Amino acid sequence: MEKKLRPNPAKRSNKPNQESNLVYQIEDKLYVNLTDRCTLACSFCPKHNGCTEVKGYELYLAQRPQVEEIIRLLGDPSRFSEIVFCGFGEPTLRLQDLLQIARYVKQNGGKTRLNTDGLGNRVHKRDITSELASCIDALSISLNAQDEATYTRHCKPSLTNSYASVLDFIEAAASVIDDVAVSAISGLEGVDIEACRKLTEARGARFKPRYLDVVG
Ligand code: SF4
Repeated sequence: MEKKLRPNPAKRSNKPNQESNLVYQIEDKLYVNLTDRCTLACSFCPKHNGCTEVKGYELYLAQRPQVEEIIRLLGDPSRFSEIVFCGFGEPTLRLQDLLQIARYVKQNGGKTRLNTDGLGNRVHKRDITSELASCIDALSISLNAQDEATYTRHCKPSLTNSYASVLDFIEAAASVIDDVAVSAISGLEGVDIEACRKLTEARGARFKPRYLDVVG
């Protein structure tokens, strides 16, 4: 057994998906909520703190949405400054669906950004960055820590070698995608923001600190 997925542990209900669970607008960007699963259990994640809401949007997913459903909700993607794959889990866990939707956005004049935990190569056991580069304009990667021990403490990875894999992913992504931003959370206990910046810049990407309890 290789791929260990963590389900959304937030309180479940029988509520069906609403359209606002699947795509939600923040400022002039439209966010796509493809999945509620990931291989981490970050201490700062809303869903691991019993909350299913982000910026007033209920992100609980009764079931994962179909590609056609998301494309219908996107309509004309050029109405938004960016279509952001983000939501309540790790979008690259649904790689083929993610790529299909991103291609639709690009073919219809939109811009795409992927917010990711950087574990796509680890999960799929191959380098997926060139596939992403074919239809993703910008990447935001969560590095979260300057060393494996701090990463493990805050993100509780279920896959071995996760931290090293994120570092390799950053380097591979920066070699094929122009806009790669890497983040760590300033104020999170034990996180050395300047060390995270150095690790990022050494791999050819741009560092962007985030702040505790600020989402988006
Ligand atoms: S990777 Fe993202 S969705 Fe998964 S636990 Fe961490 S913050 Fe939450």
